[in-house]
Amino acid sequence: MSDVDVAVIGAGQAGLSAGYHLLRAGFAPGPGLVVLDADRRPGGAWQHRWPSLTLGRTHHVHDLPGLPFPPAGDDVPAAEAVPAYFADYEQHVGLGVRRPVRVHAVRRTDDGRFLLRTSAGEWTARAVVNATGTWTRPFVPRYPGQEVFRGRQVHTVDYRGPAEFAGQSVVVVGGGASAVQLLGEIAEVAHTTWVTRRPPVWREGPFGPEEGRAAVALVADAVREGRSPGSVVGVTGLVVTPWVRAARERGVLDRLPVFDRLTPDGVAWDDGRSVRADAVLWATGFRAALGHLAPLHLRGPGGGIAMEGTHVAGEPRVHLVGYGPSASTIGANRAGREAARELRRLLLPDGVLAR
Ligand code: FAD
Repeated sequence: MSDVDVAVIGAGQAGLSAGYHLLRAGFAPGPGLVVLDADRRPGGAWQHRWPSLTLGRTHHVHDLPGLPFPPAGDDVPAAEAVPAYFADYEQHVGLGVRRPVRVHAVRRTDDGRFLLRTSAGEWTARAVVNATGTWTRPFVPRYPGQEVFRGRQVHTVDYRGPAEFAGQSVVVVGGGASAVQLLGEIAEVAHTTWVTRRPPVWREGPFGPEEGRAAVALVADAVREGRSPGSVVGVTGLVVTPWVRAARERGVLDRLPVFDRLTPDGVAWDDGRSVRADAVLWATGFRAALGHLAPLHLRGPGGGIAMEGTHVAGEPRVHLVGYGPSASTIGANRAGREAARELRRLLLPDGVLAR
């Protein structure tokens, strides 16, 4: 068992930013700080994203603090460029990320610390910064008939490219940016039907800092009140890029309301309509991967976790970064900095460890 001041769980954008600022705040790797990451390699969720998600098609991956993203072409897959950058970053900053180490459970100890049970032994910490993202918790809503449908049901998390759908009839479910991108690609080789719960909101104008702040504020309200955060992208609307405009002109983005049930051969609506399908692609998003924090009983009666800034309300030693309003690369950067500042104030009030 090792004892540290701060344990950071997860080394994606949020965990790396927190690690960087904690180092600068005076938490030394070893007794002061450990960063644990479940993946085998650097890159956070980016290493798992589909190959056709090129840098030019992302919503922009912001520089981590202290080392700019090196120049790279728009056509380079994000799943290559971002992990390479994160690997350099970890070296450059000297974080000494421990991997693969999966944290199975975090609980309080009798002497006021946190005990982390992991795939590589146990750590205790005076504070925890959780940065585990959402990628490991894909969300698929329940619809009647899911068990009788004879085709394939695939979530975005499993998507590797359009080729596997060539010549098929594919129903794509979901109103987010991923659904739109995958539709555009798959429609080149397959017959697609798009269904969303609500009519999509298209954003024709530029999406500047002002709009970004307004969207983040909506999600921040939700987490302050202990509601489920939803996604920042979910409140920004879908940006109309030239690529999206072309897909709309091809009719690929004509949408239907979500079906009422799946049938053995496809999907059906209560008004009698039906569509035959070989595959249903659930582009229905993700939830925060927080199962390992369950022993801390952080959730309130509404099912959400009430937050004050980056820490859990009433628990200033448990920070959730990359969560709710900070679930973007820029938000993760800021949340990492804020968490480190607060933990410095709390644990190193005079620049000396208050053990
Ligand atoms: P992640 O990158 O998911 O990192 C989490 C890390 O925690 C992983 O390395 C994982 O191994 C580790 N981990 C998980 N569970 C455990 C555990 N129990 N124990 C130990 N380690 C664990 N945002 C943008 O700003 N721009 C974009 O272009 C953009 N595109 C996106 C595209 C898609 C398809 C999706 C789904 C999201 C996108 N986002 C984008 C949002 C994006 O997820 C965040 O911006 C950011 O990359 C997430 O960083 P993170 O550090 O919170 O999580």
